[in-house]
Amino acid sequence: MRPFVWTTLTALTLVRSLGAQTGSIAERYRAAADRIIDAALGDSAAYHRLAVLTDRFGPRFSGTDNLERAIDWILEEMRKDGLDHVRGEPVMVPRWVRGEESAELLEPRHRRLPMLGLGGSIATPPQGISAPVLVVQSFDDLSRRAAEARGKIVLFNVPFTNYGETVRYRGAGAVTAARAGAVASLIRSVTPYSQQTPHTGGMSYNDSVPKIPHAAITVEDADMLQRMQDRGERIMVRLRMSAQMLPDAPSRNVVAELRGSQQPNQVVVLGGHIDSWDVGQGAMDDGGGSVVSWEAVRLLKRLGLTPRRTIRVVLWTNEENGLRGGTGYRDAHVSELSDHVLAMESDAGVFTPSGFGFSGSDAAFARVREIGSLLKRIDAGEVTRGGGGADIGPLAREGVPVMGLTVDGSRYFYYHHTDADTMDKLNPREMALCVATMAVMAYVVADLPDMLPRAGPVSR
Ligand SMILES: [Zn+2]
Repeated sequence: MRPFVWTTLTALTLVRSLGAQTGSIAERYRAAADRIIDAALGDSAAYHRLAVLTDRFGPRFSGTDNLERAIDWILEEMRKDGLDHVRGEPVMVPRWVRGEESAELLEPRHRRLPMLGLGGSIATPPQGISAPVLVVQSFDDLSRRAAEARGKIVLFNVPFTNYGETVRYRGAGAVTAARAGAVASLIRSVTPYSQQTPHTGGMSYNDSVPKIPHAAITVEDADMLQRMQDRGERIMVRLRMSAQMLPDAPSRNVVAELRGSQQPNQVVVLGGHIDSWDVGQGAMDDGGGSVVSWEAVRLLKRLGLTPRRTIRVVLWTNEENGLRGGTGYRDAHVSELSDHVLAMESDAGVFTPSGFGFSGSDAAFARVREIGSLLKRIDAGEVTRGGGGADIGPLAREGVPVMGLTVDGSRYFYYHHTDADTMDKLNPREMALCVATMAVMAYVVADLPDMLPRAGPVSR
């Protein structure tokens, strides 16, 4: 009987291993995905690590010691985690310094208006700019009332619809107001909800019009100034800002790897941006996405799940006011981009994940959707068309397939770019779900027999 038993067992083993090679992605990777999910949900390491990062270093604005000290700490911890090829890749970053700033309502009554200068804004003269205010509700409204704007501070009181729409007033408000002859511009903070929290963010100038100071006030105060104007009251505001642009400063992209067992030169990139604005703790934006990505790789390492290809975690610097980390990474790795299988980013806050938004070929989309089915258990497997992230945008433009982690976005913009973007807004369970989601996708894409196909129609 012995030979028979031996033969049967061999045949069974053979059938099983053939099955592992030839079954659907869902069949082949179910066991590994379940292990990853169980392990991620079984601890709150990511949450505790983010708490150390945010509490110890605070906000991590480009050009600050806080950011560079945080990067030093992360590199040290990644080496302790046993990750491969841990390094900081040098990038020069812009250095804008906010300085002292304030806004005061002078008429019809005195009130200090909570405000934040917008990143890149020039200063006012030292005594400030005191001027009447013209409240407008859109760029069109301003062009209709352009004759009234000269010599005034224009306030764009634009209610939040979605980020992409509303953020245009932050980006282009100063140029548009200056073109109408305004001496300064203010925006209603870009948020659907406020508790007297002003929101900062990037803005830009244009050489064809004079540069004027540009700042955000709160939703509450923007609405109040609107009511005052509607009643025909004269509104006077004094804006004082001392912001400066200093010479570029050195920073680094944080890079670490889980080296692939068979095609180590082919890489799946995942990450977030390690810099933040200079307010709050940058816990949601994007300390959370950074630590989630880091923890996903550490978890795979801890589970002994070594994929065929390399998984590389990248924490980009200077997303907020320059995107120099994203462009610097592309430039430093330009010769390897054809070996970049996929780049993933988590930069939409850390809330309950629902899946990913994907930009790449139709054949690749079909494959990542199938991988998504492994995340159905935690309702995080929905892969939709379109998506990515600011830092991986430069890679997408070179043809690298990209995806962004999709989360419940209903509260993200409450805290975004404010003093309230702090650790207490995050939840350990939601963070663990994000780790599981990123880790399963990265692992399976990195372990499939073939790279994600780039050929065929590409729609973004
Ligand atoms: Zn961000």
